[in-house]
Amino acid sequence: MSEFLNTPIEFLKGVGPLRAELLKKELSIFTFGDLLEYFPFRYVDRSHYNTVAELFQLEGHAQMKGFITDVKEVTTGRNKRLTAKFQDNTGVIELVWFQGAKYILPILKKGIPFQVYGKAKLFGSSFNIPHPEIQELDKTDPLKGLKAVYRSTEKLSSKGLHSKGLEKLTSTLVQSLNRHIVEIFPQSMIQELGLLERETAVKQIHYPQNEELAKRASFRLKFEELFFLQMELLLRKQIALSKDKGFIFTEVGDIFMNFYSNHLPFELTNAQKRVVKEIRADFRKGFHMNRLIQGDVGSGKTMVALLAMLIAVGNGFQAAMMAPTEILAQQHFESIKELVKDLSIRVEKLSGSSKKSQRKILHEALENGEIHILIGTHALIEDPVIFKNLGLVVIDEQHRFGVAQRSKLWKKNVNPPHVLVMTATPIPRTLAMTVYGDLDVSVIDELPPGRKPITTEHRFENDRSLVFGFMKREIALGRQIYVVFPLIQESETLDYHNLEEGYESITRAFPLPDFQVSIVHGKLKPEVKAFEMNRFVEGKTQIMVATTVIEVGVNVPNASVMIIESAERFGLSQLHQLRGRVGRGADKSYCLLMTGNKLSKESKKRLETMVRTQDGFEIAEVDLELRGPGDLMGTQQSGIMELKIADLAKDGKIVALSREKAREILEKDTNLNLPEHQFIRERVVKILQEKPNWGKIS
Ligand code: ADP
Ligand code: MG
Repeated sequence: MSEFLNTPIEFLKGVGPLRAELLKKELSIFTFGDLLEYFPFRYVDRSHYNTVAELFQLEGHAQMKGFITDVKEVTTGRNKRLTAKFQDNTGVIELVWFQGAKYILPILKKGIPFQVYGKAKLFGSSFNIPHPEIQELDKTDPLKGLKAVYRSTEKLSSKGLHSKGLEKLTSTLVQSLNRHIVEIFPQSMIQELGLLERETAVKQIHYPQNEELAKRASFRLKFEELFFLQMELLLRKQIALSKDKGFIFTEVGDIFMNFYSNHLPFELTNAQKRVVKEIRADFRKGFHMNRLIQGDVGSGKTMVALLAMLIAVGNGFQAAMMAPTEILAQQHFESIKELVKDLSIRVEKLSGSSKKSQRKILHEALENGEIHILIGTHALIEDPVIFKNLGLVVIDEQHRFGVAQRSKLWKKNVNPPHVLVMTATPIPRTLAMTVYGDLDVSVIDELPPGRKPITTEHRFENDRSLVFGFMKREIALGRQIYVVFPLIQESETLDYHNLEEGYESITRAFPLPDFQVSIVHGKLKPEVKAFEMNRFVEGKTQIMVATTVIEVGVNVPNASVMIIESAERFGLSQLHQLRGRVGRGADKSYCLLMTGNKLSKESKKRLETMVRTQDGFEIAEVDLELRGPGDLMGTQQSGIMELKIADLAKDGKIVALSREKAREILEKDTNLNLPEHQFIRERVVKILQEKPNWGKIS
């Protein structure tokens, strides 16, 4: 990189030691180069303003100019806030800040024109704009063209580095750019994709001449960022394959054959067969397997996992399977034990609730290889378990395990075991490319035959008596019912209160001795939880009132009704998971989404989506669109949240393109030795050095 770009930020005109310190701390801007890569997050079209009157009709954000009147600050009590009236010649609206009053207050001067940007929200019966962006209307600034807006922080703003202050700094820097930024891509690629040159793109992103150039600059920089991300992922995979020698399971083995021919309780779906074949092929390659199985709820991942484990066992290795919850581990243990009861292999369970004495016995049996398959919760990796010869680890519902936990697995054998991760939370393809970019992905895209679609409906609180009536009819038909309440950490006390109230109202409406109601939540002792869960599994109770502890994996085929209370408070993927608990048996199944009458736009969209479709991938797309990738599982861990300009939720097409281009280059030039790839190579080497161990983990 050029010296210019590496110049420490304190040497920039307008940045003293104090501001430099803040820029480093708040935005990790250390050098000129860093500031140039601090991209605006939107542009203001200075030539267009909305009026206050228009605001009430607008769905989205609006930019207005007018005057501040009536500034009020409430500094005590629960209603702490700063408010100001904002007025133009069409009307008045209130601006509100719940935080940062001490930074905003000094800005709010009366009698001079201001520019305000924000979104109106309805509070009670009147509209206001919470936390608007606000600044004095700049008379020196000609009112035309696009102007970059930068994110700032309270601390930076207090030192004059709000968006406008940052813009001033960037402007100084951009003006002195003169071939300091070298082109990194080969000319052939620039031409093929019609990319702006790198330096041009950087200039245009901060100071676009027009909308068209702003778009092209943004495309070029997003593409570049995603290209290097994909390059990194592809190379890590390449490196892992060449370095890690995996155990070779030469045969499928007698145990597998015996089970497959004589004990399989149903015919595998074609998708299951295909995935088993993919796993078998991995086992024979001599490389270390790192495979993810994506399969919607109920697609039969457990059987695939079992078959993989039987191959490992048949080749003289041990296998382990980890589940995210105690209940799920118990259920896997029971069903797998039952499935293999006629084979001469030993299956055991280890979990947080295993007693010390019991643990000791298990440890010994694992160490001398008497146990073939171990099933457990994460206690399995926290525990000082030593295996004789661990060959395969299956991780169920993988998003519940952190990277750190998974990395411990690698230490469980001299050579790392093969790893199979399973998830029922499908993620969109373009996101998978990135989040799981260094894993091989198998998809079970077919449900076992005979599944009937689940009828999903949205019901309001006022319909409760009708819903109870429906429940009674289903119970009379011999069915079982889940009633799930939200439990969110921030409002735990209140949520438990709701859960208990809900439970009481259900026990009143469904009294003993005709009805039996179970309740399961996180505060119960594990024994009690297991006991209640078992009563339901065995059909002794008709209704299971629960929190989301039952969200993952639990399998009770006779349960055919899922009632989700306060459904507006659940995320889409959670709703989908919960619904997946029913529709597992032969009976017609239902999912009722109960909500109050007031619903936000987003909640409405979530509920509509649930009612409309049962396709996990489609639901995942909507989820991604609504929430952004930050909330989807796996993303925090993979470092993709550090993206500077690209957005995985919105830039799916660029993700796909960048992956294709990165792959093309590696196919032609595996080690990036060609002269035209020199700069790509330099950047990639740097990236790989900065994050050395990441690829080994998932
Ligand atoms: P998930 O993929 O959600 O983990 P499970 O493995 O729990 O799904 O399977 C759901 C149910 O489907 C189980 O009762 C299982 O026995 C059954 N099942 C799995 N595969 C098949 C198949 N090929 N044919 C019929 N039933 C199957
Ligand atoms: Mg499962």
